[in-house]
Amino acid sequence: MATAEIVVCALCNNPPTSPCPDCQELLYCSAACQADDALVHRLVCAEFSALSLKKQSAIADDGDDGDGDNGEQNHVLGVLFPVGANTATAATTSSSSAPTPPPPPPPALVRVHIGGFTDPDSGISFQEADVAPFFAAASGPDDTAAAAAVPEPLHTERNRVRNRDTRSMLEVWHVPAASGSSSRLSLTKNACIPSLGSAGTGDAAGMAESNGAQQQQPGPFFEWRGPVLVLAMTRPTGFMVDPGAYRDCALQDYRDAVDFVLDYGNDLHARRTQEVLATLGAGVGVGGDDRRVTELEEAGEAEEAEEAEEAEEAEEAEEAEEAEEAAKTVVIEMQGISLET
Ligand SMILES: [Zn+2]
Ligand SMILES: [Zn+2]
Repeated sequence: MATAEIVVCALCNNPPTSPCPDCQELLYCSAACQADDALVHRLVCAEFSALSLKKQSAIADDGDDGDGDNGEQNHVLGVLFPVGANTATAATTSSSSAPTPPPPPPPALVRVHIGGFTDPDSGISFQEADVAPFFAAASGPDDTAAAAAVPEPLHTERNRVRNRDTRSMLEVWHVPAASGSSSRLSLTKNACIPSLGSAGTGDAAGMAESNGAQQQQPGPFFEWRGPVLVLAMTRPTGFMVDPGAYRDCALQDYRDAVDFVLDYGNDLHARRTQEVLATLGAGVGVGGDDRRVTELEEAGEAEEAEEAEEAEEAEEAEEAEEAEEAAKTVVIEMQGISLET
């Protein structure tokens, strides 16, 4: 969709030169960036093209403009990171034959029903995404209906991995840790998201635990449980006036979403990605509001920053040990913040 939005290379923010030859949608500045994104992008490239075409023909058929009018039949494209096969039950069936674990499921494009209501007093219309069907099967075997997994949304408007605003406001539905009476830990670990971390994206390949469920280092990645569903919205221009409207996820939203789910709760991830991109001479860091960037630099280069501050407050004699202590505190605070973002 050609819009007035700022168009940048999906990976590095440089001016784009050519689209992906298959979907003709996602733009890159170079063959290098396209290659770097290939493993993540190809998971949805063909599916996205097919769905887009189907949607266009459907719109042509019923004459509905499909855009801007929020009828009851409205659906939008969302990105689902499925939970994958329940490896826990599979593992107990036989310990001798040691079947190879099923491959992690790829992300999927899904159609999400958008309902809504109009506030009788103000006359303002609100949209509601019907996300429940995607989480209906997510509850653990012991969960009663009353204790079923209840998804909640996170919102983000900033791709801090690539130092740019996200194309859309992203609404990321997942089952939070403190999910009412539901036992989140009974939910199956999301196998899709960690697999994306090992698929290119410019971050250190060694960071991602591959599909080995055994090696349980805390790992750099947030442990998502259950499915994760990402929806795209226009940016709100004012609470209660224009709360933002759902729209189809585009491939750029998918890229932003992958970056978000990999980066969530993990400050190292953004920094490492930027380090790798910097070695490619990529344009990450161009433009955007600098608040987040500053936070990143604080988290990433906390040692340097703290050393500088310490030098001012105390003498230079204060030395590295204290500086490092303080640096850890900053990093922990940063993580605390990002967990609530
Ligand atoms: Zn493509
Ligand atoms: Zn690029």
